[in-house]
Amino acid sequence: MKKTKVFLAGLTVLLGIGVLTGCKGNQYKEDTAISSEQQGDVLQVVATNSILADMIENVGGDHVVVHSIVERGTDPHEYEPLPEDISKSTDADIIFYNGLNLETGGNGWFNKLMQTSKKKENEDYFVASKNVEPLYLSTEGQESKQDPHAWLSLANGITYVENIKDVLVEKDPKHKEDYEKNATYYTETLKKLHEDNLNRFNDIPDDQAFLVTSEGAFKYFSKAYGLKAGYIWEINTHEEGTPEQMSQIIDQINDSKVPNLFVEQSVDPRSMETVSRETKRPIYDTIFTDSLAKEGETGDTYYTMMEWNLNTIHDGLIEESK
Ligand SMILES: [Zn+2]
Repeated sequence: MKKTKVFLAGLTVLLGIGVLTGCKGNQYKEDTAISSEQQGDVLQVVATNSILADMIENVGGDHVVVHSIVERGTDPHEYEPLPEDISKSTDADIIFYNGLNLETGGNGWFNKLMQTSKKKENEDYFVASKNVEPLYLSTEGQESKQDPHAWLSLANGITYVENIKDVLVEKDPKHKEDYEKNATYYTETLKKLHEDNLNRFNDIPDDQAFLVTSEGAFKYFSKAYGLKAGYIWEINTHEEGTPEQMSQIIDQINDSKVPNLFVEQSVDPRSMETVSRETKRPIYDTIFTDSLAKEGETGDTYYTMMEWNLNTIHDGLIEESK
C-alpha cells in the first residue's frame, strides 16, 4: 500500500528527526535488559495503542518498559484482548488508555480487560486525554458520544504528554526530575511542529481545502489547522461504507474542487477506492490516524506521524484540480 516516496521521505525524516524521537522503544528495551537488578527498578507500563506507547517511552525514557496492546497498523476501536494482554495488564504498574469513546466505545473491550485484570481507575489505569476539550459525533442519534481522535491536534497531544508525565511522577517520584526533563524536551518539539503548521493550509483555496478520509477522524485536526473535513463513515465502530454514506460523500466531493482524496493506514481501503473511481479524484496517499506506522517506516513515532500527515495533506490539497 505504501508508495516509494513514503520510504524516501522516511529516510530523510529518520535522518533528521529520528535522532530526537525515533526508535526509542527498542533502545529502552535493550537498556533495561542489562541486569535483573535494574529491571526491578523499571516501571512496567501498558498502553492501549502504539501512539500512547510512543508518548510514554518519550517521557519515561529508560525508567519504563512499555507494551502496546493494539499492534501498529491495527484498529484500536474494536479489539479482542489476547491472553498475553491480560497477563501484561495484570502485571502492569501503570496502564494508560485514550478514553473519549475509543477503547471504551464499540464492544467496550478496555473496560472488560480492566475488570478481568482486577485494575482500578486512577489507581492502576489512567486516561491520557484528561483535560482535553472533547468534540462530539454528528451522526443522528450519536450526538452525545465523544469523538476519540483528539491526538490528531498536536496541542491535545501535548496535554496527553503532560498527563502521562504527572502519572509517572506520582507513581515513581524518585525519577521525577528525569520525567520532567524528558517531558519538557518532548513537548517543546511537539509545540514547534504545531506552531509551524497553524497557518499551513492558508494557501489552499477554500473550495479545495476539504480533507476526505474513510473514517471521520479529523475533527480535532481540522479545527486546529483550519480545514474542512469529510468522511465516508464517522467512526470505525459504526457501519462502514453503506450506499447512503457513499452517495453522501460522493456528492460533497463533486460539489467541491478538492483535487485528491486520502486513505488511512489502519482501515480497509476499498470504500475509498470506490469513492475515488466514482468522483474521478485520485487517492493521493496513505495517512495515519489510529496507529503509528510499523517500526522503521515513516510515521513510526507520534511526531513523525503528525509531520507526515501535515505535509502529505497539504501537498495533496494544494495540487491543481484537473
Ligand atoms: Zn478511529
